[in-house]
Formats: sequence, C-alpha cells, structure tokens
Amino acid sequence: PTVGVVRETNDGERRVALVPKIVPSLIGKGLDVVVESGAGQEALIPDAAYKEAGATIGDAWSADIVVKVAPPSDTEVARLRSGQRLIGFLAPRNAQNQIGALTQAGVEAYAVEAIPRISRAQVMDALSSQANVAGYKSVLVAASEATRFFPMLTTAAGTVKPATVLVLGVGVAGLQALATAKRLGARTTGYDVRPEVADQVRSVGAQWLDLGIDAAGEGGYARELTEAERAQQQQALEDAIKNFDVVITTALVPGRPAPRLVTAAAVEGMKPGSVIVDLAGETGGNCELTEPGQTVVKHDVTICSPLNLPATMPEHASELYSKNVYALIELLLDESGALAPDFSDEILAAACVTRSKENS
Ligand code: NAD
Repeated sequence: PTVGVVRETNDGERRVALVPKIVPSLIGKGLDVVVESGAGQEALIPDAAYKEAGATIGDAWSADIVVKVAPPSDTEVARLRSGQRLIGFLAPRNAQNQIGALTQAGVEAYAVEAIPRISRAQVMDALSSQANVAGYKSVLVAASEATRFFPMLTTAAGTVKPATVLVLGVGVAGLQALATAKRLGARTTGYDVRPEVADQVRSVGAQWLDLGIDAAGEGGYARELTEAERAQQQQALEDAIKNFDVVITTALVPGRPAPRLVTAAAVEGMKPGSVIVDLAGETGGNCELTEPGQTVVKHDVTICSPLNLPATMPEHASELYSKNVYALIELLLDESGALAPDFSDEILAAACVTRSKENS
C-alpha cells in the first residue's frame, strides 16, 4: 500500500501530516510513501528531505491512504476516489464538516478527533499532541502582550514582583500552559470543573482554585454547566480574576459552544495592562469580549484569541502529529502488512467516521 502526504491548502496552515523522520518506519512496514511536491514547504521541509528519507515526490492524492492535517476542502474531497482511506482532523462535531461529502465519495475516513481517550490510544492522540503546542504558545503570546515581567526580578533599579497567571480549563493545553508559565517565573493558578484535575495542577507547581463545582462528564471530558452553576461560576470567577495579571482560557465541552467563563464585568475588573489569551475562539470563546482570531483591547485589557496556534509552530507540531498518524496507520495493517482495518478494535471503530462499500 501507498501513503500519500498532501500539501495543506487552508489559510495559515503550516503543518504537514508526515515528516521525513517517519518515512523509514513506514517503509519498514512495507508501505511506499508518496509526497506532493511542496507538502513540507511551510514547515520548512524541502522535497529533497523526503526523497532522502526514501519517499517519492508525485501524485500523493491517489495513494491508498491519504494523510492530512486540516479538514479537506470541497476541492480536496473531489480529488479523492472511492475506496481510498483518509486520515486527518475532520471536525466531526462541527456542523459544517465534510463527512457527508466523504461518505458520498466512498472514502473511508478516519477523524483523529474521534480517537478514544484510552491509554492504548495515547500514542495516536492528535488532540493532545496539538493541545500541548497550543498551551505552550498561549503563554508566549500572553508574555509578549503583557506590559509586565513574568518572573520576579531583583535588580539595582528595583524589585519586580512575579506575574500572576490564572489558567481556566486545565485539560492538556491548560496543563501545558501552567507548566510553561511556571518556567517563565510566574505565580500560577489553575481552575477546572473536573475535581480530579486538582492534583495535576499541583503537580506542575500551581495553586488549585476551588469553586466547588463538579461537572465531570463522560470519557474524561467536562459536561455543560446548568444555568445556576454557570451564574455561580461567573460570579466567583469575576471575584477571582481581579487578582491576576494574565488569564489563559482553554475550557471546552465536546460538541457545545465554549463555556462563558469570563464576563465583560470580569474584564473590567482587571488591572489595566492585563492580558487574556482565549484558546476557545474557534467555538465562540470563553471570554464574553473575545473576537475570535483577533487581538482587541477592552477596558485597557488586551484580549487575544489566536486560532490554530499549533500551525504557528509547524516544525514540532508536525513532528508530534506525524507520530500520531504513524501509530494510526500501523493499526490499519494486519500481520502481513496488508491494509485490513479490524473494526472490532474500539479505536478504529470510533475513529472511522465513514466506511467505504468498496473496502467491505
Ligand atoms: P478539552 O479540550 O475538552 O477541555 C479543556 C478543559 O476545559 C477540560 O479540562 C475541561 O474539564 C475544562 N472545562 C470544560 N468546561 C469548563 C468550565 N465550565 N469551567 C472550567 N473548565 C471547564 O479537554 P482535553 O484537554 O481534551 O482533556 C480532557 C481530559 O482527557 C483530560 O483529563 C485529559 O487528561 C484526558 N485525556 C486522556 C487521554 C488518554 O487517556 N488517552 C488523552 C488525552 C486527554
């Protein structure tokens, strides 16, 4: 079988689904790798690097397994034929996704978002690998927008107090944000509605903010809050947020609009020069004053809502994603190296969002 690495066409998408480092492992499994010319260009990987690793440059779109990062556009879906396999982010919970079109086209598509959060699937968990990148970068964005230092400084010209950073929503991105802010010398605090997160927050040297709401849902995710819980949470956070120089928000509930954690009043209560980085912009934002994709200043507080932060670090984001994709491809092969996905495997059963008649 062949694996096709195609060039991403979404605006600002700089990642590539497979880096040259993974090519020898695929070849070792008996696969051929075909790369669309320029596929790695935005990640600063030249065609020559793929060739050196053993891939060929050519028509990646006709490969048996096409690997991608961003969900395919209409034009891209039109390039796929019946029976082909596609692996990538497919936004299965987004109403505007292409899963219907892929089904129509007879493509057997695997959505990396749908891989279950079980230990055996950790190695292919692209949501986690990319959330790590986003969490890290969110802190750098905050630090560069801040009018203050993150670390404590003791200098001849005086002493500077460390910045206080609050992270709201401590999943994978939030935990990485806490760890990164700590490394920059800030005083860190984390908050989440899943009580089990408290120990993880403490393990990265942060304080746990306890607001007494337990909204642990299924599969390690949070559930949506009730109206009363939401009001209680917003009020409690409004009081807490005043004490922080930086607030980073990452709170998500699968398939729902982002929970509103930071009200306009909470923003107004912050000190001038404070910064909010809202990682939930894609689903509407955790802050009431967020403008997705924009950086705005409201009440002298800078509110940034960068979209697709992982694409701003294409080298490592692609490298981590490649490992995830490789692990998933491995699972599609049987012992003889033939493409024969076993749908009694819960990982494949969940990840495969469209089946193809051709392959059954
Ligand atoms: P996510 O991106 O879905 O959400 C981010 C965080 O927002 C979550 O921690 C969630 O609890 C929190 N949140 C939601 N609503 C909130 C609200 N109203 N107020 C405050 N916080 C709110 O989460 P994620 O990063 O994908 O991780 C979810 C969980 O899955 C984590 O516990 C993670 O450790 C676990 N996980 C397990 C595996 C595995 O075992 N393979 C892999 C990855 C993640």
